[in-house]
Parts: sequence; C-alpha cells; structure tokens
Amino acid sequence: MANHQLYDYKQSVIGPIFLEDQLLPGTLEYAIHYIVEDRLDMGVFNARYNNDKTGRKSIDPKLLLKVVLYGYSRGMVSSRNLEYACERITTFMALACNKTPDHSTIAAFVSSIDEEIEDLFTMVLMICHEEGLLGGTHFSIDGLKLSSNASKEWSGKFDDLKKKQEALRRKVKQIVKEHKKTDKKERGQSTTDKARHEKRIKKLTIQADRIEEFLANNEPKIGSKGEEIQSNVTDNESAKMATSHGVQQGYNANAVVDSKSQVVTNAEVFGTGTDSKNMAPMLEGARNNLEAIGVEKPLEGIQVSADTSYYSVENLKACEEEKVDAYVPDQQFRKRDVRFQDADRHRRSTDKRHQKYKSKKRYFDVDDFKMNEDTGKLICPAGQELYVKNRNYTNAEGYKFIAYQAPKTACRDCTLRSKCLRKPKTEARQVHILIEKRPPSITDKMREKIDTLEGRKIYGKRIGIVEPVFGNIRSCKRMDRFTLRGKIKVNIQWKLYCLVHNIEKILNYGQSFAVE
Ligand code: SF4
Repeated sequence: MANHQLYDYKQSVIGPIFLEDQLLPGTLEYAIHYIVEDRLDMGVFNARYNNDKTGRKSIDPKLLLKVVLYGYSRGMVSSRNLEYACERITTFMALACNKTPDHSTIAAFVSSIDEEIEDLFTMVLMICHEEGLLGGTHFSIDGLKLSSNASKEWSGKFDDLKKKQEALRRKVKQIVKEHKKTDKKERGQSTTDKARHEKRIKKLTIQADRIEEFLANNEPKIGSKGEEIQSNVTDNESAKMATSHGVQQGYNANAVVDSKSQVVTNAEVFGTGTDSKNMAPMLEGARNNLEAIGVEKPLEGIQVSADTSYYSVENLKACEEEKVDAYVPDQQFRKRDVRFQDADRHRRSTDKRHQKYKSKKRYFDVDDFKMNEDTGKLICPAGQELYVKNRNYTNAEGYKFIAYQAPKTACRDCTLRSKCLRKPKTEARQVHILIEKRPPSITDKMREKIDTLEGRKIYGKRIGIVEPVFGNIRSCKRMDRFTLRGKIKVNIQWKLYCLVHNIEKILNYGQSFAVE
C-alpha cells in the first residue's frame, strides 16, 4: 500500500530566491527579459524623467515594461493585480528585480506611453526582421471588436441623453417626496431605510450630474452619412458595434499581419464598427513601420487580403495608391463560387423569423420580349409593339439602355398583366435593353479578380494568417475587454498585446532562440 508524504499548499516557505534562476531560457518571461534588457533601446523613455538632480529615484521603465508585458501575456491587465504579483509571485519578482512598483506607478506608466509605444513596436518589429520572421509577400488585415471600459447603457443621441438625465432628476424628486411622506406617517422610520434612500438619491444625482456635464462639454457625434450618431458618456471615442456576441460598446482593433510567421506589422484601434475606411491608415502604418526598420518599398506589389467588411471603393482605392495586389471580396462572392453552390443544403434556419420570404412567382423578363428585326420594334409576349421612350437612358451604375414602353391601352386589358406587371397599379410595362456597358469600375475589377481560381486561392490564405493572431490574443492572452478609456490609451493596450504576440513569435521561431 502506498504511503505518500502529506502536502499542503496553504503554507509559506522561507528561503532565498535567486532571481536569475526564475527566468529560464526558452520561456516567455526569459524572452521578455532578454529582449527588453538587451535588444530594445530604452533611451526612448529618457525624456520622461527629470529627477537626476532633485527628487526621488524612479523605478527603471525596463522593469515596468517587463512586468506589464508579462502580465498581459498572462491576461493580467489590472495594475493592482500586477502590483500584487510583483510582491508575491516569483516570476514577476524576478522580472521586476525585486522592486515592488505601486499600482498607481504601473497604471500611469501604461496609460502615458502613447509616443514611446510606437518606437517599442518598431524596435520589436526590427528584431522580428533580424530573426527572419518577416516574409513581406502577403499581408492580411482584419479587425477584432472588443468591449470598451464603458457601458452601452450610457450611449445615446444628445436628445436621448437629455431625456435620461431628466428622468434621473424626476426619480430623485420622487424618492425625496416618498421619503418625506413616509417619514411623516411613520415617525420611527428605521435608520437603515433612511440610509438606503439617501444612498440611492446620491447615486442618481451623481449619474444625472455626469450626463449634464457631458452634454455641456461635448458636441453631438456625426456619422459618415452626416447624421447624428450615438455618443457615450463614459468613453465617447468608443462606439456601439454589432459583433457575433450581440451589440457591444467597444473598439475595433485592427492588425496587419505578415504571412510568414504571423507577425503583426501594424496595430491600431478605431472607434467605429465598420472597416470600410480602415485600409488606408492600416497600410500606411504598416509601410511606415517597415520603412523605419529599413525595408525599401515594403508594400509595392505584395499581396494584401482582407475580408468582405473591407470591400469598399475607398479601401480599394487605398490599395491602388499603395500599389498592393489586393484581394478583398464582396459580400456575394461565395454565391458566385461554384464550390459553394449547395453549401446550404443541410442548413435549417433555427428561427423562422430569419427566413426570408422568397416569391416563387416568375414575371416576364427582358428575354421574353423579342425584337422584330424587320420592323425594329420590340414585341411583348402578348404580341403588342412597344415604343421607344428614351434612346439614351443611363442608370445609376453608368450602364446605357434604350428604354421601351408598352402602350397603356394595350396593357390595360391584357390577360397577361399578372405575369408582366409586378404592381397592379402600374399602367404600362417598361423594358430596358442594354446598349453599352460602362468601363469596369474598381469594384468590378476586384470581383473579377476574386472570381478567378488564383484569386480564390490567394484569398483563402487570409484565414490562416490573421485569425490565429486574434485567437491567440483573445483566447490565450484572455484579452476580451479594454480596461482603459479613450482611443489613445486603448491604442496603447492593443499595441502592448500585439507586442507580446510578436515577442512570442520571436521566442518560438526566432533564430536566436532556436533550440540547438
Ligand atoms: S401587360 Fe402590356 S407589355 Fe405586358 S404582355 Fe400585356 S400588353 Fe404586353
């Protein structure tokens, strides 16, 4: 019979901790320590400190950066948790070199490195380049919608927010009135009730004041269509956006990822749910970062893939300007793909409300109207001649047609009306015969390109390039919510996460870290 020693994790152990021994080569903590200590130029932080002659000695930013990067890699974003970890967890103690930075120091450090983070990102990208992790042949762009540190309940147009504020004030008045009434009636109202009421009044008043202050200091947000869109009292730079988890108040975190080792070459957040204008800033950012590390003409001729949410004239023009070989499909590209023709055969809608009504009725189309070559007249299925209404009709897409119309008298008593006219009130049928196509637009060219076998093959690579990066950050690094507020600070958090991702790539695939 086995006779094991008893053990108990609820105990303290006193003994020496050799800090260097905690950072084992081959681990992420070692990679962070080595890269920050030996390969990053931390002089970018020098301008922040002015305490050489007077003032207290500060904690070296190297230590703070190591703690923050390692904390982010473990899903620890809270500065209080990081402070606790530096006091109690040996890996953090080793990275912080047994210093115990206060949570306010860590929080202030993270939220203020908006300028330095750009340099840090470029320096880590440079290491990726030196380690042979950049292929520079195919980039994929995508966006990850993550919740902001703001509730969607505090969103609304200015009128809605004003109404909310008035409702809160009314509620306060009502509580005070009820409170007085009860007080008169039952003289001996318990002190707990009184305290509860006062607490509630205080809370509602603070909320109403907050909205009032917001309305006084901000202008209504205007969307791309020139109409007012919803503002948010807590973080007005975030936006309500539709995600696979429902509508959430958040940021759209974008990344440009290199195909060779899935290194992030540019990372940026946007306070809009749509990606239709994101291509230009993302490509420009990637180009600047790569040029900064010495890559010449980094985007010229390279393949760039992005999903259907990036399909817009603006984005495609941005690709053209950057001279990239773009693969951005439209929403309908799978419907045109023969491989997906019977993709829906086993799919059954779970909710009947989502089933679209499809009319089985077939109306006469252009092909049912025949041209009499001898007379040059267009003849309808009932044998009536249509007359030319407009010889040079151009539709919204720029195509040119001859517009024909049947005589009202012919259609009025026609027995085929129900097969020809979609609306009973229509007096006469019109038919447009195409005479001239417009020159292919930028979107036509993209559709044609995506519909080729080669186009589909190249676009198919996208999912294996950018999605694993988001999977790593969201699931492995547990980044499902930004904890800072405001676009600048949220951008820092997103870049820090992408930095951790790139450092992990250096650790796993870099030549310096290769196992002999
Ligand atoms: S409705 Fe008018 S156009 Fe249509 S088939 Fe009858 S006559 Fe011809």
